[in-house]
Amino acid sequence: MSKCGDTPVLAKGGGGVNKDCIFCKIVAGEIPARIVHEDELAIAFHDIQPQAPVHVLIIPRRHLPAISQMEPADREMVGHLHWLARELAVSLGVAETGYRLVINNGRDANQTVGHLHLHLLGGRAMGWPPG
Ligand code: 5GP
Ligand code: ZN
Repeated sequence: MSKCGDTPVLAKGGGGVNKDCIFCKIVAGEIPARIVHEDELAIAFHDIQPQAPVHVLIIPRRHLPAISQMEPADREMVGHLHWLARELAVSLGVAETGYRLVINNGRDANQTVGHLHLHLLGGRAMGWPPG
C-alpha cells in the first residue's frame, strides 16, 4: 500500500503533480496500471488489491490530495469522476446488479493514498455499515 511520499494526506493546496505520489506516477505512465479509461481530466484503473470482483479507482490527472481539499474550481472535475463511475459501471457490467462508490477522506476513513480517488466497487453483495 502506498502513501504519497511525505505529503500528508490532508496537506493544504495541491495542484499539478506531486513527484512522490504513486497515483501521479500512474498518470504519468511511470508505473504500470491496468487502465480502463483515460481522458483530459481523469483516468481509471483496476485497484491493485481488489475488494470486489470489480474494483476500479477513478482519479483526476491533477494531484488533489483529498476531497476535503476540493475548491470551487474542482466542481466540474469531481462531477466528472462520478459521471465516469456511472459509465464504467455500465462497461464493466455492474450497472444492473448495483455498485458502491466510495471516497475515503483522512485518517478515520483510512485514506491511504493522498491523491483523490473514487472507488467503484461491484460484482458482489456488500454489507452496511462499512467496516
Ligand atoms: P484508500 O484507502 O486511500 O481509499 O485507497 C487506496 C487504494 O489504492 C487501495 O484500494 C489500494 O489497494 C490502491 N493502491 C495503492 N497503491 C496502488 C498501486 O500502486 N496501483 C493500484 N492499481 N492501486 C493501488
Ligand atoms: Zn498525486
